[in-house]
Amino acid sequence: MGSQEVSTVDWQGKHVTVAGLGVSGIPAARALHERGALVTVVNDGDDERARAQAAELEALGMTVRLGDGATLPPSTELVVTAPGWQPDKPLFLAAAEAGVPVWGDVELAWRLRGDNGRKAAPWLAVTGTNGKTTTVRMLASILEAAGLRTAAVGNIGVSLLDAVLGENEYDVLAVELSSYQLHWAPSLRAHSAAVLNLAPDHLDWHGSMEAYAADKGRVYEGNTVACVYNVADPATEDLVREADVEEGCRAIGFTLGAPGPSQLGVVDGILVDRAFVANRQKQAQELAEVTDVNPPAPHNIANALAAAALARAFGVEPAAVRDGLRAFRPDAHRIEHVADIGEVAYVDDSKATNTHATEASLAAYESIVWIAGGLAKGATFDELVTGAAKRLRGVVLMGADRALIHEALTRHAPEVPVVDLDRTDTGAMSEAVARAAELARPGDTVLLAPACASMDMFTNYNKRGEAFADAVRARADESA
Ligand code: ADP
Repeated sequence: MGSQEVSTVDWQGKHVTVAGLGVSGIPAARALHERGALVTVVNDGDDERARAQAAELEALGMTVRLGDGATLPPSTELVVTAPGWQPDKPLFLAAAEAGVPVWGDVELAWRLRGDNGRKAAPWLAVTGTNGKTTTVRMLASILEAAGLRTAAVGNIGVSLLDAVLGENEYDVLAVELSSYQLHWAPSLRAHSAAVLNLAPDHLDWHGSMEAYAADKGRVYEGNTVACVYNVADPATEDLVREADVEEGCRAIGFTLGAPGPSQLGVVDGILVDRAFVANRQKQAQELAEVTDVNPPAPHNIANALAAAALARAFGVEPAAVRDGLRAFRPDAHRIEHVADIGEVAYVDDSKATNTHATEASLAAYESIVWIAGGLAKGATFDELVTGAAKRLRGVVLMGADRALIHEALTRHAPEVPVVDLDRTDTGAMSEAVARAAELARPGDTVLLAPACASMDMFTNYNKRGEAFADAVRARADESA
């Protein structure tokens, strides 16, 4: 069977254990139940919400076991797990011992696609440590500009299962995949896929950098047209080399420099394609201008090139790449320009929750007052600070692990003034912005790019970004 064909499973009477009541577990349980499977849902938690959800599933005829996600029900033939469940959980060890396969939400969606009689759309997949959401949205925008019926799905917005089983028919899907999801998706075969970059993240979950990289690399397995890698990040190219792909599938690089044959890159402010042209030794196709990318920060141009490569692999015309990039609007809190006050720009990159993302956003500005701190998640900051030291006008630190950043600054950038905010109340962000404003000179950028998670002070990175934007706008109003 060709890898892109739809495989059918006879679900009637099959004993399936769904691990985890949650955003992916409940739709999975319902979809399997509707297909005649005998579904047991197991869940660690046993709170009020879980009980209400359990009651609904039980009313439909499913079995739900609350407060014990560790034991494998004896008759289980297949486990379908929420992607976040850690692979060393006893449930999975028991499944491995019993020879029971484990699928994640992505694997399930992949296996169920097309079984409702609708067209099984090919997948263009994107993974990487940072930039996934942005790239997938750019890709969807380009595909739409080409007149294709598509959606950005996966780790964002619409769940894969909903996209695959829902009412809409698609020509192609732009799919964001996390390393967790890839870990549990053994038979996924994308039309084409990109790994944007690889930096240490989620190592507690995967166990090691090797295991993390290996899970990311699964996205290339069985690709039919293109494996897209980042020329500046050789680890991504290694993953292409190690992948087992379909005959004729090509390795396509993207680079911020001039592209070689089989690459997309940048020449004199123009995004150009030397991969999907008739003669890649001699020819280069103009796709768009750097200024068509929103915002035109270096890492974001890399995202645009990756999106363009996947779209071109799918046969999209150059003009649609340009139109799609022009139409793209970044999501909130990702290098979002909030306001200019007295010739100082205020930028919210609250989504920069790790050092790799922050490194990219610090590289995008010449002279920066940097607001950082929060939960470090085991990260170290020496490399980040060393790389950015020359561009730092000053730093304002807040949050639980701010001392780690402060120490790195003392070691590598002792001349940079640092304000250390020892408060975590609701007014803390206003003070951070006020202190940053004092440090800034005309032409500077005040950049919130915390390099840390937000949960020590905020519900999530959205709330942190909103607090920053509110504080900036209040100042803008005062100075108007
Ligand atoms: P993801 O979905 O992988 O978390 P996002 O598109 O939401 O990625 O961006 C997350 C953060 O990573 C942003 O704050 C941005 O600063 C940073 N970022 C985006 N693209 C890249 C990239 N190509 N390389 C490094 N950092 C990036």
